[in-house]
Amino acid sequence: MHFPIARRPTLNKRLSRHLWSRVAFLVFVCVALPGFAATEPVALPQAGETLALGPHIEHLEDPERSLTLEEARASADRFRPNSSEVLNIGYNRAGHWVRFQLRNSGAEPLKRFLEFRSLFADRLNLYAPDEQGHYTKVESGRLVPPPDRPFQSRNFVFPLTVPPGGEALYYLYVDSADTLTIPLYLHTDTGLVHTELTSRSWLSFYQGLILTMALFSIFLLATLRDRVYAYYIGVIVVHQGLFFTLFNGLGYQYLGLEDPWWSREAMSVLVSLSMWMIMQFGRVLLATRDEQPLLDRVIVLIQHAALVIMALSFVVDYSVSIRLANPHGAVTAAAMWVVGWNSLRKGNPAARYFLIAWSMLIVGGIAYSLKSWGLAPSNLFTEHSWQIGAAIEAIFLSLAIADRINTESQQRIRHQQEAQLAQAQALDIQRKANDMLEQNVKERTEELRKANRKLQQLSDTDQLTSLSNRRSLDRFLTHTIARARIDRKPVAVLMIDVDHFKPVNDTHGHQVGDDSLREIAGRIQNSSRWPADMVARYGGEEFCVVLPNTDRQSAMSVAQRMRESVASEPVTTRIGRLKLTVSLGVYAAVPTEDDSKDSFLEQADIALYQSKQEGRNRVTLLGATAS
Ligand code: GH3
Ligand code: MG
Ligand code: MG
Repeated sequence: MHFPIARRPTLNKRLSRHLWSRVAFLVFVCVALPGFAATEPVALPQAGETLALGPHIEHLEDPERSLTLEEARASADRFRPNSSEVLNIGYNRAGHWVRFQLRNSGAEPLKRFLEFRSLFADRLNLYAPDEQGHYTKVESGRLVPPPDRPFQSRNFVFPLTVPPGGEALYYLYVDSADTLTIPLYLHTDTGLVHTELTSRSWLSFYQGLILTMALFSIFLLATLRDRVYAYYIGVIVVHQGLFFTLFNGLGYQYLGLEDPWWSREAMSVLVSLSMWMIMQFGRVLLATRDEQPLLDRVIVLIQHAALVIMALSFVVDYSVSIRLANPHGAVTAAAMWVVGWNSLRKGNPAARYFLIAWSMLIVGGIAYSLKSWGLAPSNLFTEHSWQIGAAIEAIFLSLAIADRINTESQQRIRHQQEAQLAQAQALDIQRKANDMLEQNVKERTEELRKANRKLQQLSDTDQLTSLSNRRSLDRFLTHTIARARIDRKPVAVLMIDVDHFKPVNDTHGHQVGDDSLREIAGRIQNSSRWPADMVARYGGEEFCVVLPNTDRQSAMSVAQRMRESVASEPVTTRIGRLKLTVSLGVYAAVPTEDDSKDSFLEQADIALYQSKQEGRNRVTLLGATAS
């Protein structure tokens, strides 16, 4: 691909030459044309027509605002012709005289209407000649109370009666504390009605839109109770509503505000209040206190400034307060734009709409200001650009709120889901904990049972011989007797005592005695063959054997076996083998109602005593014959 790089400088040179010739022409037009343009008498507009007077007027600046009509008329050669539709003066402390000539060639006076299509004229005095050439002064402007103005309109309108038979020269004096433009139009009655209707229908559309937004927001505030709507309504009412009602010159007709204060000083109050509201709304909408704390503090400062300017507006002259309120508005515009931009970068979706809304108002405001300073043409768009921007702003701000509410509700749903999940998890954990606890309890209970069993065993066991102890024997014997009484079965009790045991201790010591007791216990235990039998250590060197369901004969043979087990072989101790014997007393019977464990033990003991008496190492049987 080939770019014609070499030809570019030539093209640029040609372009700049072209541009310079245009500039030279413009300079020529601006400097030379006023000198040439003579003020021709203007033919009156005919039925239904409207005529822009701009190119037909001559202008004289009155720096001291001191000229009288006579002095102005005497300075005819100092009037400078104007060629533009609207004479742009800008910020200027001077007074301004304008004159124009109207021609009525007919024989009858003609009614026409002169419109000053701006609200920013403080004093607006028209000097109109009659047929004799005498001038009458008619006063209008912001400083004249609306009811006293010559004609009821949102702009300043003068009804004219143009005298017949030639030309009439009109003089108009105007001054303003604001940016001044002189947009003069001449209407017939139908032309005026047409103009009014056109602008009124646009305004009605705007008012309807704003009223709808406000009512809808009031409804939403009542339902959703989100305070961001309160500030939104504040913005709509103060800025889009009240401010633009005054800005459009409708304060008297719509709200009955008669005092000239409402057409001038109220403007700087409402501009400042609007800025305060918009900043407050933006802060709440974008949660700047949490998300941009540093910038938020700056905004709060600018808000304070708004309040100060508002308060000052009631005290100082309007020319001062409006010169504070306007730059303050510019600072607010820039600061809130930065806030919106930051918020957007941080990923706040509502900031998107806020930024569009705010940019629309700024663009509208800039277009309007350019027109006011004479840097942009005055037309239907630039005239209302601020208001158009404000309308679009209102729409996009409400979108921003909707977006925020949407985001919030999504967040709420997400939080709800998270909470539900967390709850389910908590439940699961609790269930698991319960299961674990149950398992633990089971294990502990089992352990406890084992420990108890062991303890029971320990408490039921004789330490030396590992046989059951006296406690256990008592329980077992009681139970066995009770059972046998019901079953009508015999119970046998064997009482066993080691013979001459004291001398064992005395001769070989207790430890040898213990060894002997252990061995004898073992032999007796092994001589019992039925698992239902109980062999217990009764105390000292005495043993007791309970044989459930055993009659006298069987008991005797068990007793003989036991005696034999000890006597047949010497017991082994730590010092060697010792020859020992045992004596036994046997009692066997089917227990009657009168029997108890004690009676059985007593009987066995008596039998034992008898064995001892009869020479030891023997068995004595007592007891009733089995039934
Ligand atoms: P017999 O019964 O034949 O009349 O004579 P004995 O010497 O056995 O007389 P007694 O019943 O009065 O004596 C019991 C002795 O048993 C007294 C005590 O020295 C001994 N003795 C009792 N309990 C124990 C024990 O737990 N260990 C030891 N080493 N000796 C015991
Ligand atoms: Mg004894
Ligand atoms: Mg003994």
